[in-house]
Amino acid sequence: MYEKELHTAIEAVRQACGLCRAVQHTLVSEETIQKKDRSPVTVADYGSQAVINAALIAATPGIPIVAEEDARALRNPDNRELLARVAGYVRTVVPDTADGDILDAIDAGIHDGTANRFWTLDPIDGTKGFIRGGQYAVALALIENGRIALGVLGCPNLACSPPVEQHVGCILYAVRGGGAFEQSEEGGDARAISVDSVARSQDLTFCESVESGHTSHDRTSQIAQKLGVANPPVRLDSQCKYALVARGEAGVYLRLPSRKEPSYRQRIWDHAAGVLIVQAAGGIVSDVDGSELDFTTGRCMEKNLGIVASNARVHAMVVEAVMSVVKS
Ligand code: AMP
Ligand code: MG
Repeated sequence: MYEKELHTAIEAVRQACGLCRAVQHTLVSEETIQKKDRSPVTVADYGSQAVINAALIAATPGIPIVAEEDARALRNPDNRELLARVAGYVRTVVPDTADGDILDAIDAGIHDGTANRFWTLDPIDGTKGFIRGGQYAVALALIENGRIALGVLGCPNLACSPPVEQHVGCILYAVRGGGAFEQSEEGGDARAISVDSVARSQDLTFCESVESGHTSHDRTSQIAQKLGVANPPVRLDSQCKYALVARGEAGVYLRLPSRKEPSYRQRIWDHAAGVLIVQAAGGIVSDVDGSELDFTTGRCMEKNLGIVASNARVHAMVVEAVMSVVKS
């Protein structure tokens, strides 16, 4: 099942990872512009979305795409140079693509997420990490009737576990019901991955965002204290946090409503791929009150607040501690 879709998704993510790596090596601050929400968006976000959307349109033309970016800013003549840079990178992957086709491919991601079946894409999750030279991910998932059918996570700066090659990242993937796997970004054999078996809360390792605007670091530390967790939290950008949980390198990933933005709704592309990979690796993912994540409400998860991902064994106890802190 899903052989064609999985192959298409992995190869598209692999190409996008290569493009992103090339851009990260040459990133200069002029290449970032400010979106309305002021988050930085780079030539690589656009390039990655163009390459992946084009591959999806060619292989699965009937399936709409819900992606983070759109080409509005790139169509503005003031950003002509930015478009030329994006197009240059895209053509290293898909030679001879016209500018207009690149813009259209990016704009193919505008679907509202209400279809029975759709792709959801974050062309670069953790843009801030990308700009800092840190962790980021290319995340692609297929949603069917509100359930995640397959997920692919490209992590160009995250070495495989155990590392197979230096300076090459990994690609994690899962098909619902089929286990979770990891492969070198350069291809080769895939390895089955699984969550850790930590059962005692004091032995847990937490991971969370670097950005305090995306999760409440204070609340994580209160929860850690309640549970007697001695290890300091591992902070990293992007869905690479789901990769750590899926590989058994962290027992818990917490994303807690911040006091500044208590009702922030998570975007589906920030989670879908990572959630399925953790579930397929034996873990559990819920919102802060333990409810299942609901992917039927469009581009945002309207019915869920925050995220708790874990190795399954500790889930109930972690959710209880999270609830007592978040509700206080
Ligand atoms: P991370 O790298 O885990 O910190 O997450 C990056 C993602 O956080 C971005 O892709 C944004 O969509 C998302 N984001 C932006 N604002 C918030 C917020 N207030 N709370 C949670 N996530 C956010
Ligand atoms: Mg994101």
